Amino acid sequence: PNKEMVKVHDEILGIIVFFSNQIKKKNIKLICNMKEDLFIYVDKQQFKQIMINFLLNAIEAFEKTENPEICITAEKNGDFAVIIIKDNGCGIASENEKKIFEPFFTTKDNGTGLGLSISYQFIKENGGDITVSSHLETGTKINMILPLFKEKR
Ligand code: ADP
Ligand code: MG
Repeated sequence: PNKEMVKVHDEILGIIVFFSNQIKKKNIKLICNMKEDLFIYVDKQQFKQIMINFLLNAIEAFEKTENPEICITAEKNGDFAVIIIKDNGCGIASENEKKIFEPFFTTKDNGTGLGLSISYQFIKENGGDITVSSHLETGTKINMILPLFKEKR
């Protein structure tokens, strides 16, 4: 990865703008709670790809959801930024939860099954970590940590 200082707030906002048509069309309520002064040390293109994959999965989880909602929070915890993407979509069946990071695992008719496996690799390569908690009906919560940018390296 080609690591640099990345402002979490601005990059995520850019991704949201990228999805704004779909968000409007599907009547998705978007709740953002992101700290302004949050800088991480990661590959910017990979970080964008990770966020695109998570947001796309959330948007695709809303086929049968009546009041679709995505909640994004970003804050500091120790040496890491904690970024949480929560949706109230279809959720992940418990028997599938351990497979979602496998390449080509998909439950979608036209899915590639690559989004989460690539995201997982990128997160690990950038010194971060991810946990997913999900329940059918209530939805999915992605919890990702990525290393903060430090002045002295
Ligand atoms: P794809 O989106 O092409 O299916 P991904 O790797 O992005 O591949 O996701 C793998 C699978 O994980 C999906 O097919 C879906 O079953 C499940 N999944 C991922 N994110 C979510 C989510 N936010 N809500 C419900 N299911 C999800
Ligand atoms: Mg996907």
